[in-house]
Amino acid sequence: MKYVTITGGVLSGIGKGITAASIGAALQAQGLSVDVLKIDPYLNVDAGTMNPNQHGEVFVTEDGYEADLDLGHYERFLHKNMTRFNNLTAGQVYSNVIRKERNGEYLGATVQMIPHVTSEIKHRLSQLKGDVAVVEIGGTVGDIESEIFLEAIREFSMEVGHDSFLFVHVTYVPYLKVTNEFKTKPTQQSIQILRRSGISPDVIVLRGEKKFPQATVNKVALFGGVPVNAVFGLEDSENVYSIPEKIHTLGIDKFVMDKVGLKPLSPFSWDYPKPERDAKIAMIGKYLSTDDAYKSVLESVALCGYKKPKMIDSETLEKLSDIELNSILKDYSGIIIPGGFGKRGIEGMIRAIRYAREHDVPLLGLCLGMQLMTIEYARNVAKLKEANSTEFDPNTPYPIVDIMEEQKRIMKLGGTMRLGSEEIKVFEWSNLYKIYSSKRIFERHRHRYEVNANAFESIFRMKESDPPERLNVSAMSKFVEAVELPEKSFYIGVQYHPEYISKVSMPHPIFSKFLETCTNSDN
Ligand code: GLN
Repeated sequence: MKYVTITGGVLSGIGKGITAASIGAALQAQGLSVDVLKIDPYLNVDAGTMNPNQHGEVFVTEDGYEADLDLGHYERFLHKNMTRFNNLTAGQVYSNVIRKERNGEYLGATVQMIPHVTSEIKHRLSQLKGDVAVVEIGGTVGDIESEIFLEAIREFSMEVGHDSFLFVHVTYVPYLKVTNEFKTKPTQQSIQILRRSGISPDVIVLRGEKKFPQATVNKVALFGGVPVNAVFGLEDSENVYSIPEKIHTLGIDKFVMDKVGLKPLSPFSWDYPKPERDAKIAMIGKYLSTDDAYKSVLESVALCGYKKPKMIDSETLEKLSDIELNSILKDYSGIIIPGGFGKRGIEGMIRAIRYAREHDVPLLGLCLGMQLMTIEYARNVAKLKEANSTEFDPNTPYPIVDIMEEQKRIMKLGGTMRLGSEEIKVFEWSNLYKIYSSKRIFERHRHRYEVNANAFESIFRMKESDPPERLNVSAMSKFVEAVELPEKSFYIGVQYHPEYISKVSMPHPIFSKFLETCTNSDN
């Protein structure tokens, strides 16, 4: 078993996760089996309680774990379903240590960072399986929270033997326009910080806006204490899915394999999408301070070969007149209403849904999006004017979306939603069935509320013999899983999250069908 660990220098958000996933993909593209551990040094037990505006989306794994969005990169690049064992947070480590201490498992010892906390971390490292494990340490070297993880990894590398271990440091090299030069000082300093934890990098990957001159590479090698051929410049790329190929062309994968004594088992093969087509999609969202808040949705579109949707702030739509709203939305051939929580911006999304329904603009609703499609239909077609979700109006006379029975007794916030993959029955008479060609599907969930079809049965078409001119329920589990209006070009809302299972070369059929409809329509 070999280990490739990835640390970050200078700044966060420089594509360390993509670089790590791409190194993994490049090794896997040569027949090696790759395991992953993403370490998040924050004290949260998982990412489930974090605000997407600050931290980006919460990625949900098949086994119902609420992870950092980096786990999504690994799934998409490695075509592999991640689980809760692929993510380790400081919150998990410390809560395990404290639980063990309370259970008397340390037999009277004074419980300390070294060896008790480090042992907990090393235990997780020792459970990885495959030819090679990619271990990514979140954050930037120098963060107080990550010190103990670096120490545990250093100890672990001594135990396993340095020949089976490789340290990659991914760092940012800023470009100064005024003097037309790249500045390596921050990188020199981040390597010094890394060395203070007893770790010397074997490979340094430089991230920056444009191609690095050889002089910059030489300087980093000299000050970083590594050979010149261990420093690789990886400038920004238009298409992140081309990076595994770039890693291979640069020879990073070969360097890694040579160092840890691995050989490729098959010739390199990596096929990836090129997001070049424009379907003119508007995504009406409420978390707009970072694109990361809707990462998996945006990547699901890219994986179908389409350009990024335009983000529209749902709150701004609330203040517009009908004419203004129409004049904004008429420029788009399709609308996506993504998931979300809380009342803010909801009415803007409902207005966009109404516009799409009335103008037959292809519409895809994801989780919250589907719930709002149901509310809009109840209000404007079934004429239940004050229909709402009890999430937004606990006193609504028409709770068409209501809290799930099993959720009513839950008081704690973390990890308590309906989470993860579950079997869903798709009705053969639905448009959804045409998309999946299957009656039985598995999709991932993350919600507390559900469509209250039992209480409002006259609004819904639940079986084939019901009048078709109602809101058609096209898939069910214990809950309503999808609604549609079959006479529209594309009007589908799903309670689950198809965006979590799109992968490179395996785009999700709902997204492919939606985008294809948008490109073919004249809207
Ligand atoms: N807020 C809604 C619920 O909890 C939708 C959740 C979501 O979009 N992920 O049911």
